[in-house]
Amino acid sequence: MHCSFCGRSSREVQLLMPGMDGCICNDCAEQAYLLSKEYIEDNKKKQGGAFDMTDIPKPHEIKAYLDEYVIGQEVAKRYLSVAVYNHYKRLTQSDDDVDIEKSNIIMVGPTGTGKTLIAKTIARLLKVPFTIVDATVLTEAGYVGEDIESLLTRLLQVCDYNVAEAERGIVFIDEIDKIARKGDNPSITRDVSGEGVQQGLLKLLEGSVVNVPPQGGRKHPEQKMIAVNTKNILFICGGAFEGIERKIALRLNTHVVGYGNDSAMKRVQRERLLHYVAPQDLKSFGLIPEIIGRLPILTNLEPLDRDALRRILTEPKNAIVRQYTKLLAMDGVELVFAPEVLDFIVDKAIEYKLGARGLRSIVETIMIDAMYDIPSSGEKSFTVTKEYAAQQLSKANFDVMQQASQS
Ligand code: ADP
Repeated sequence: MHCSFCGRSSREVQLLMPGMDGCICNDCAEQAYLLSKEYIEDNKKKQGGAFDMTDIPKPHEIKAYLDEYVIGQEVAKRYLSVAVYNHYKRLTQSDDDVDIEKSNIIMVGPTGTGKTLIAKTIARLLKVPFTIVDATVLTEAGYVGEDIESLLTRLLQVCDYNVAEAERGIVFIDEIDKIARKGDNPSITRDVSGEGVQQGLLKLLEGSVVNVPPQGGRKHPEQKMIAVNTKNILFICGGAFEGIERKIALRLNTHVVGYGNDSAMKRVQRERLLHYVAPQDLKSFGLIPEIIGRLPILTNLEPLDRDALRRILTEPKNAIVRQYTKLLAMDGVELVFAPEVLDFIVDKAIEYKLGARGLRSIVETIMIDAMYDIPSSGEKSFTVTKEYAAQQLSKANFDVMQQASQS
């Protein structure tokens, strides 16, 4: 008996499977399986294959997944879940139907409140290409920086330059507020104020065929471009819009600071004001109306309060405390954080105005010596007490470092 594909005999292979008129060996069967899988997937991609709506996660499922990683931000999570779900629906629509138009999103919220985190978490769940890009690198053609079209280069790269795939992807543009027009333009001949970039971005948002440089960066005449139609690409923008409360307050005819300049009062006010963010505030901030019109879903993220920070330390699936516990568990050591340590860490993050981003650097500073010593100490458990944490921070001059970076 011989394999009908490679000709080897039953003695030369591990398994020879008989068929109607011949046999196949285990190696050839494996090759055939891989080939057919590749072929089917390739074909699907080429056709930009429609989704089977039954395997698409429903908004509730998307939100539940986000809940595992992102604390709070209920409104933003709901908006995004619906937007992503609708994006899938739009991709499955047939041409003769009512044309479902895309609804790009803009998220406004202070830095370090989870905008990028939400985007990244969604990316893990998606069945379409997804990329995160930063608007700060963009400048208008003719200046140092990257052309607007290069935003799509990353999207092409994540799907191996398969244009049909990229054309149904999702792009998260971070720091969109950095391309807002900055007050009066000091130069009358050249616009470096951001408006030109916004005009360029508009072209992408509203759906047109753009030429994308395959390697990103700047376009140059000899380069071969890839034409990408952005009609079905969903854009999610995020930005801190520092100071937008003042514009909201102005519109609402109130003042940011009510009475006194108590900082807690300020925070409450700020929190409340962001809830009222409206398209016209983005306009006063310096986004051109056409861009705002192309970002019809406007949602806001809330500043994280003490309770949220405390939860961020322990609750998300990859919470920092869990990460450290796991790291030490790999050495067979049980790590325990005393509850008051967690409060202490949150206090420090608030004191140094570090927000959620600071939690990690504080925990790292506290843990560095333990991480160095424990693996060779032979201990079986380690408890972080408040005294230990305070001592570690002062030893590392954490407070001095923070003051220096703030000044
Ligand atoms: P930004 O809003 O500036 O994009 P990020 O999403 O990058 O902020 O947040 C920075 C880090 O802070 C995240 O990596 C995450 O660890 C933590 N973080 C911020 N907000 C949250 C949140 N709502 N839930 C859980 N972790 C958060």
